[in-house]
Amino acid sequence: MLDFNSSNTVVVAGPCAVESEEQMIMVCETLKAVGVKYLRGGCFKPRTSPHTFRGLGEEGLKIMASMRERYGLKIVTEVRDTKHLDLVAQYADIVQIGAKSMYDNDLLLACGELKKTIVLKRNFAATVKELVSAAEFITMQGNDDVILCERGIRSFESGTRFTLDLCGVAWLKKNANFPILLDPSHAMGYSYGIPDLARACVAMGIDGLMVEIHPEPEKALSDASQQLNMESFRMMYESLKPIAKAVNRNII
Ligand code: PEP
Ligand code: MN
Repeated sequence: MLDFNSSNTVVVAGPCAVESEEQMIMVCETLKAVGVKYLRGGCFKPRTSPHTFRGLGEEGLKIMASMRERYGLKIVTEVRDTKHLDLVAQYADIVQIGAKSMYDNDLLLACGELKKTIVLKRNFAATVKELVSAAEFITMQGNDDVILCERGIRSFESGTRFTLDLCGVAWLKKNANFPILLDPSHAMGYSYGIPDLARACVAMGIDGLMVEIHPEPEKALSDASQQLNMESFRMMYESLKPIAKAVNRNII
């Protein structure tokens, strides 16, 4: 993907899940105002409990597509199952494979058949080597356009949701030849920690940063505790610029 290169740190922002057109307009107005080019939002949500919101499905994808049309944003959204892949690929600019699906060989191979950028998230119990091996299921099918995403691994620490593995990021920078995207939102699990973590991520010299944002986080249907509101996101975004400069990158 063109923008993900050694000159930039690309910010990808949006809600955990697409919930309504109104919600997405509020998010996109903020992205447009600050200059963010990549919108995220889940439509097929993998959940720990089946009794929680699992996404709007195609209706959500249509809302995402209308945001692309209206605001000129690129769309990043997750595919959870091979049975939805054609549908998701029809709408997405970047297809995301979630942490829970990192070991799904069939999904990886099927994404290898696409001519689209794939964001592959690290499973919270996977080593960085296993992440790279998973990426090879995609590349062996002919799709080299893969971005690796660190989103936190499970450790003995229970004060935060997961543990953001910046050592693993240093390892990937040295040993793997893929752009790296960092997701502090799922790692931390609490919005209070996200701006500091985001600045630490950018200071690592990374290709992309993914952050969950919501106009009314406390009312979010999924991951309510970790989403930044619009004002916090704006402030965080501005604060990333000098940090990126210090490591010879531009925030876009
Ligand atoms: C997400 O990015 O919305 C998500 C579900 O994250 P993860 O797969 O890392 O849990
Ligand atoms: Mn989420």
